[in-house]
Amino acid sequence: MTDQFDNNDELIEEDNVEDDLKEDNDEYERFCFLCRRPESQAGKMIELPNNIHICTECMQKSFDTMNQHMSDGKINYSDLFNMPNVSMIDLSNLQNTTPQPKKIKKKKEEKKPALDLRSIPAPHKIKATLDEYVIGQEYAKKVMSVAVYNHYKRVATDTMDEIEIEKSNMLMIGPTGCGKTYLVKTLAKLLDVPLAIADATSLTEAGYIGDDIESVVSKLLAAADNDVEKAEHGIIFIDEIDKIAKKKNTNQRDVSGEAVQQGMLKLLEGSEIEVPVGANSKNAMVPLTTVNTRNILFICGGAFPDLENIIKERLNKKASIGFYADLKDKYDNDPHILEKVTVDDIRAFGMIPEFIGRLPIVFTLDGLSEDMLVKILKEPKNAILKQYQKLLALDEVKLEFEEEALHAIAAKAMEKKTGARALRAILEQYMLDIMYEIPKDDNIGEVIITREYIEGTGGPRILLRGQEIPLLSNAE
Ligand code: ADP
Repeated sequence: MTDQFDNNDELIEEDNVEDDLKEDNDEYERFCFLCRRPESQAGKMIELPNNIHICTECMQKSFDTMNQHMSDGKINYSDLFNMPNVSMIDLSNLQNTTPQPKKIKKKKEEKKPALDLRSIPAPHKIKATLDEYVIGQEYAKKVMSVAVYNHYKRVATDTMDEIEIEKSNMLMIGPTGCGKTYLVKTLAKLLDVPLAIADATSLTEAGYIGDDIESVVSKLLAAADNDVEKAEHGIIFIDEIDKIAKKKNTNQRDVSGEAVQQGMLKLLEGSEIEVPVGANSKNAMVPLTTVNTRNILFICGGAFPDLENIIKERLNKKASIGFYADLKDKYDNDPHILEKVTVDDIRAFGMIPEFIGRLPIVFTLDGLSEDMLVKILKEPKNAILKQYQKLLALDEVKLEFEEEALHAIAAKAMEKKTGARALRAILEQYMLDIMYEIPKDDNIGEVIITREYIEGTGGPRILLRGQEIPLLSNAE
């Protein structure tokens, strides 16, 4: 509304002299130029040039009269004020100060579609890009590439006719730190779609303490800069989904387990959700908008810690029956046991069937081995080592790591059992001293991180520009 008013700034434009005058007059009460009532009676005044004030009521009356005359053909509007659209101003709106939750309308004008079928990269191209960032997880990358390709093909062609293509929501199962979130993040960046990451543990049934389920959609809207159309093509990643498994043997109300799964059903399938714009909770001050989740891709991820035992139990039971009965502990040491997961196992874990049914693509990720960790350190496009090398290169210092040092770092990370997540923390600890000491001496030209430095039995090798002398002792 104020915008409208500002547009007619000929009406309210004041020059500096008038500003001074206004200041002088501030001690006196203003009077309406037409009805002569003071401001205390007539309400807030509108300022016109030459220090004239008019109450909103008189102003509205003037406009109404003008409009009436105009429609009678007595006044030529543009001759009078040379102000087109003046009749659009409804001053009653100006006085309306109580904030109302507004609905923001979706933009009507036809923009070019956010997704063009021809611009969606083919699955092998998606996978090739993922390969640049994510080490290993070949199967997961392949499944995701195909699923995402199909999903966006469905969105772009909007095939909701009789052969309805099912939504490709996914469930990824893999130990912590093996790259679940990283895969999704890389995918969203590659496809240039907004991404919201939520933690299932913080979600509760609406009305209870915690974020209600629909808050994930408002997160996505925020990630899409409040552009509803963009958000409707986005990805929502819900991590730690195994934490909302049905609680066993409980007689309390399960507000953060089964109830959250129930609450998520309509979201996963596709429904119109009213979300606040620019805030996390609905209240009177925040405008609302409607987001349809039909084309939003949902990816759920979790470690499902006891799932292996459930699978083992099922397989052992099967194996010990009948003529070809196997050894009872055949699957006990199978490193690929997780790959044999079935929907029934996930149900036995505590996910409700309706929920699993809405995540048709289920796949597992491998735990990371020491060799994979070494690769993660040095090979991805934005590998941690490359980042440190770039930092030191800014000081014109070369940074090298001995292969054995990398294995020592990976071995330390394996002990922590948090996957690749531990790598950065460990490296940070060793690089701290290096990055503290190096800028002290302009003569240093190269630093080589050795196995001894990582294991605490020696220091890194420091090469001065031109010659080599060991400078630093070990960090521990
Ligand atoms: P989670 O599986 O628990 O979601 P993340 O995806 O958050 O694990 O992984 C943590 C970090 O470890 C990522 O930010 C990424 O830098 C690194 N990482 C994990 N797995 C891989 C991988 N396979 N390839 C490259 N980097 C990885």
